[in-house]
Amino acid sequence: MKPAPFDYYSPDTLEEAVALLAKLENEDLDAKILAGGQSLMPMLSLRLARPDALVDLRKIGALDYIREDGDTIAIGAMTSKSAAEDSDVIRTRQPLFHEATLLVGHRQIRNRGTVGGSFAHAEPTAEYGAAAMVLGMDMKVVGPNGERIVPAKDFYVTYLTADIDSTEILTEVRLPVLKKGTGWSFQEMSRRQGDHALAGAAVTLRLVGGVCKDVCIAVFGVNASPTRLAEAEAFITGKAATEDNAREAGRVGADGLEEPMSDVHATAQYRRGLIATLVARCLVEAASRAS
Ligand SMILES: Cc1cc2nc3c(=O)[nH]c(=O)nc-3n(C[C@H](O)[C@H](O)[C@H](O)COP(=O)(O)OP(=O)(O)OC[C@H]3O[C@@H](n4cnc5c(N)ncnc54)[C@H](O)[C@@H]3O)c2cc1C
Repeated sequence: MKPAPFDYYSPDTLEEAVALLAKLENEDLDAKILAGGQSLMPMLSLRLARPDALVDLRKIGALDYIREDGDTIAIGAMTSKSAAEDSDVIRTRQPLFHEATLLVGHRQIRNRGTVGGSFAHAEPTAEYGAAAMVLGMDMKVVGPNGERIVPAKDFYVTYLTADIDSTEILTEVRLPVLKKGTGWSFQEMSRRQGDHALAGAAVTLRLVGGVCKDVCIAVFGVNASPTRLAEAEAFITGKAATEDNAREAGRVGADGLEEPMSDVHATAQYRRGLIATLVARCLVEAASRAS
């Protein structure tokens, strides 16, 4: 199938793009931003999306950067995922984000697909969602009323929906660097390498006197949006990350989940079981990296 007809715009600057989105909105036209096209183009071809206009951000070079800003790494929305994968700054100062990036599709997808596109698309199976939750990332969004910063916990609204208005553009994602002594782990299960995950988990923690502190656990591929597992975090906090405790924390976390998605790839029950196992493995690995 071919996409339905649309008008195509390719602004040179962010200001032009924002003004264009506002103008199209005023004219009651449905505009979509085009970034790497790795998710949007298939949706257009299948006519799952039929916008009146596409606003391509590709010419806006000012949105393509990776910068250290003290203890924060700022990534421009149009930075490719392969650039994030190849960044020494990200690999050495925030290895969890590096690991999550390696698990997004194949290298070819990461060459074209942008970091901002993955966040904005808010796919339930996107690795970046769980990374954002455990790392406490911030998203910078710019629109006709200026700029706002949205913390990760408020960013994901529901299935394929992030807190970005139709006249706004996600311009930057900000991730804190890994604090010294923090252990981390990022694991997922997919049928083949490069496939979307059936489910996955991310963990950060510290060990103080051999017991777990500051534990963050998030899972993805299970519900409409990435989810923090507060009950599992509470269970393991103050305990040693032995295999038994980690297994029990995984069970507590999985039991506390809202009914997981069920589709042709995996049943809800299978996904719940996967989460129990992946959370347990992540806790043990994160503890081994913390000590
Ligand atoms: C075979 C295959 C395997 C894949 N596997 C995975 C995987 O394992 N994990 C994973 O996470 N993803 C996977 N993807 C999706 C891929 O990561 C996409 O790159 C990503 O979802 C979208 O990024 P993009 O730059 O291509 O955005 P586009 O496809 O151009 O846009 C996606 C959506 O985000 C909006 N958007 C894009 N940029 C912005 C912005 N700056 N501000 C506001 N809105 C914006 C668009 O309007 C559109 O609605 C896979 C894709 C393919 C084709």
